[in-house]
Amino acid sequence: MADAIQLSGISKVFGSGSKAVTALKDTELHTDQGSFLALLGPSGCGKSTILRILAGLETPTSGEAYVDGKAPADLRRDSELGIAFQDHALLPWRSVVGNIRLVFEVAGRRPDMDYIHELIKLVGLDRAGKRQLQEYCKGMTRRIGLAQALINDPELILLDEPTSGLDPIGTREMKDLILKLRDQGK
Ligand code: ADP
Ligand code: MG
Repeated sequence: MADAIQLSGISKVFGSGSKAVTALKDTELHTDQGSFLALLGPSGCGKSTILRILAGLETPTSGEAYVDGKAPADLRRDSELGIAFQDHALLPWRSVVGNIRLVFEVAGRRPDMDYIHELIKLVGLDRAGKRQLQEYCKGMTRRIGLAQALINDPELILLDEPTSGLDPIGTREMKDLILKLRDQGK
């Protein structure tokens, strides 16, 4: 079986000449199917760049990246990837449901309302579904991002700093939620 994630000899250089920034150098990363991996490191060490390469949003300067034996861009095209970015764009005038529906709308698909309500429950937003986003705290927007990432029941879920901006209780809740999703095989 192919590694879930395979990064071999990955380097990424942004810019050129005297302004070149080496974000990654000879990075190796291999994970088994069904595993859960957290990247830890100081700001600027290349964590988001790794996620963006796995998401097919950046091309490595050298090296090879595969997810489930496929090129990241193919994985994204086949909707086998769920991403929650650190600053994901939500529409503040829409409700929780409205923001989750957005993923269907952008893909030109009819929203599956039953599934949306199931996801809302799963991420612990079931009592907030109709409220407008403006009324939300950071923890709720993070949960919406997570629900959006889960919509296509993806093979790979990438979460960039899912607890940033949360207070200690919110951080704890988000960690418990992520572990719960892992235990449920999401
Ligand atoms: P982390 O997520 O670990 O904080 P990043 O992957 O965002 O780190 O960044 C790694 C390095 O690459 C940093 O020095 C950052 O400034 C640089 N970098 C990231 N993206 C770009 C970009 N699009 N253009 C130029 N430099 C970038
Ligand atoms: Mg980052």
